Amino acid sequence: MTCESVVQRIAEFLDDRLPMGDRRAVADHLGTCRTCGPHYAEMQRLRSSLRALPKRPAPAQLKAALRVVASRELKRAAARRDVRSFVRYTLESLALTFDNLMRPIALPAFGGICAAIILFCALVPSFTPGRLHIQITGDVPTQLYTTASLMEAEAPDFTTDEIVLELDINGSGRMVDYTVEKGANWMRDASVRRSIEYSLLLARFTPATTFGQPMNGKVRISFRPRYYIDVKG
Ligand SMILES: [Zn+2]
Repeated sequence: MTCESVVQRIAEFLDDRLPMGDRRAVADHLGTCRTCGPHYAEMQRLRSSLRALPKRPAPAQLKAALRVVASRELKRAAARRDVRSFVRYTLESLALTFDNLMRPIALPAFGGICAAIILFCALVPSFTPGRLHIQITGDVPTQLYTTASLMEAEAPDFTTDEIVLELDINGSGRMVDYTVEKGANWMRDASVRRSIEYSLLLARFTPATTFGQPMNGKVRISFRPRYYIDVKG
């Protein structure tokens, strides 16, 4: 055996990995050669001093990363075995890639769909034709606020110029007070005032409502000659 081939085999010789024949040849050469003998001794010393160094634990992160690499390599090796495992491996990789891509946008997308559904449900009632609401009778008012209005009244018996009053209507639809907006001089006439007040005290109003609940409200009402009553809610 030449020196060159012995030097190439020293590491394997130290690790006890040489076949029996080679091992004996190397051992014989090392025992006699003046170049290779000291080289072998040097290698042995280096190896034992390396072994004597304190062992440092590998960082947990590195361990995990190595395990991932190893498991991937194992899968890749398994995939190379036959066509079926190759197809399965490719499909699994694609599914994993797709999953990783979709996960960050899954929550925002879900929130967006929910918001769209809620908005759609809230807007649907305003898309329906207006005449439908008119045809429904006895419907519970769902508006935020409705104003008071006059239901029925007896026309007062007087002949003057126009008189405009603002009435306070309580929750039961009765007038509780009023202020004169126009025709104050006529209201000073006792017979005119009595006639109007009598008519208003007997009149029935639809009270104002908030969320369907009756409440106090105001009605503007104007009296004109010839028994004509004009109401502005
Ligand atoms: Zn030699």
